[in-house]
Amino acid sequence: MLDFAYARHRMVERQLAARGVGDRQVLDAMGEVPREAFVPDGMEEFAYEDSPLPIESGQTISQPYIVGLMIQAAGIRPGERVLEVGAGSGYAAAVMSRIAQAVYAIERHEPLTRLAQSRIDRLGYDNIHLKTGDGTRGWADAAPFDAILAAAGGPEVPAALKAQLAIGGRLVMPVGEEPRLQRLKKLTRISQAEFREEDLGEVTFVPLIGEQGWGEDEQRRP
Ligand code: SAM
Repeated sequence: MLDFAYARHRMVERQLAARGVGDRQVLDAMGEVPREAFVPDGMEEFAYEDSPLPIESGQTISQPYIVGLMIQAAGIRPGERVLEVGAGSGYAAAVMSRIAQAVYAIERHEPLTRLAQSRIDRLGYDNIHLKTGDGTRGWADAAPFDAILAAAGGPEVPAALKAQLAIGGRLVMPVGEEPRLQRLKKLTRISQAEFREEDLGEVTFVPLIGEQGWGEDEQRRP
């Protein structure tokens, strides 16, 4: 039986801290959340591998380094409210919930939402709100958000997500012309109408499928 606590500690040191994820709150949160609880049954021994892993509904749980990098880039602080688009296994939402006041996470595949909810309930993390739906439309009733993370890549940043970002808020999302090859973008909302954009490098995410993302066939909507 793998020593998960040790594997988690090693992941934090070797995959995160050694590669420039230096935010203490992110490292502590990733050192706390049991990633093995978020992978499919029988995959627990791979939970701390330095790679994404397949999960249910043909989706993936992101590589730990990417999760740490995105959360660090979003600069999430205690007391903040966060939206995640693409909750998948629920792992990244669980990590963010250890830092933020509240996390709202949307997943388009109902079976994934149900599984994520049961994992989160089992761990007793009570500041995460999960729902099934099209996350490209955001979560208007809970807006504005201090940070928005999209864990799937779209052709552009959905207008609804920009509109639901608080002034001073940060949005981190993979954006690209190809459904499975993107650049990680960070937008900071400077004022009602102004956003500062930064490019955080090339990434490969599953496509963001929805009204303001790719079509089901991974084609741009007409
Ligand atoms: N953050 C997740 C985790 O920690 O396991 C990894 C998510 S996976 C890389 C991306 C997820 O985005 C998939 O589960 C996919 O179904 C979901 N997704 C894609 N388009 C979506 C949309 N429009 N709304 C909500 N979820 C979406």
